[in-house]
Amino acid sequence: MRLDKLLANMGYGTRKEVKQLLKQKGVTVDGEVVKDASLHVNPDQQDISVFGERVHYTEFIYLMMNKPPGVISATEDHYDQTVINLLDPLAQHFSPFPVGRLDKDTEGLLLITNDGQLAHNLLSPKKHVPKTYFALIKGVVTESDAEAFRRGVELEDGYLTKPGELAILKSGEISEIELTIQEGKFHQVKRMFESVDKKVTYLKRISMGSLKLDEQLDLGEYRELTVEEVSQLK
Ligand code: URA
Repeated sequence: MRLDKLLANMGYGTRKEVKQLLKQKGVTVDGEVVKDASLHVNPDQQDISVFGERVHYTEFIYLMMNKPPGVISATEDHYDQTVINLLDPLAQHFSPFPVGRLDKDTEGLLLITNDGQLAHNLLSPKKHVPKTYFALIKGVVTESDAEAFRRGVELEDGYLTKPGELAILKSGEISEIELTIQEGKFHQVKRMFESVDKKVTYLKRISMGSLKLDEQLDLGEYRELTVEEVSQLK
């Protein structure tokens, strides 16, 4: 890869700014000052440093966000802020995208990455990656709802859902539940409850496959996945 591209990707500025760095003799490759922006380098085999600090090149970025309500799970939108707009410029440099969608008003775990293969695996219907949601439901949720979800319910468009696991945490006028489903149809949780005549008033995703939402993250905050979290997802 070209040296200027690598440094720009790693957040050392635009290609033009990187050229300035090189001019200032700020960049060394295996200890030698390099001024040629077009030099081809191999970050796995060479020590590339900027003002004495080694550049740790990574191709992929993996972030966990606690998505706040009011933002869109997309890379761009004409009207609303997107989850990508919430990332710092360095993270945005990697051209990441959200893995799947949460509705605008849904909160919670959203994986953001530029690893297309991983995203594909997690979203593939064949892989049955379980996703668990916490929700507040208007209406008394009962064991017969749980049984219906276990069997599969028919949504308003005729789609029959795959078995879902409903845990009733609190049953009352406003019920609290956790629902685990292995598919991700549009508005699926909301539509499943509609099929049993109940309304979701609050929805938060708390896990996706092996990945659990880090409760230390406030709404809108994000952090990099640990090496273990990434390897468990693969
Ligand atoms: N199901 C929904 O209804 N909405 C979401 O955002 C996610 C799952």
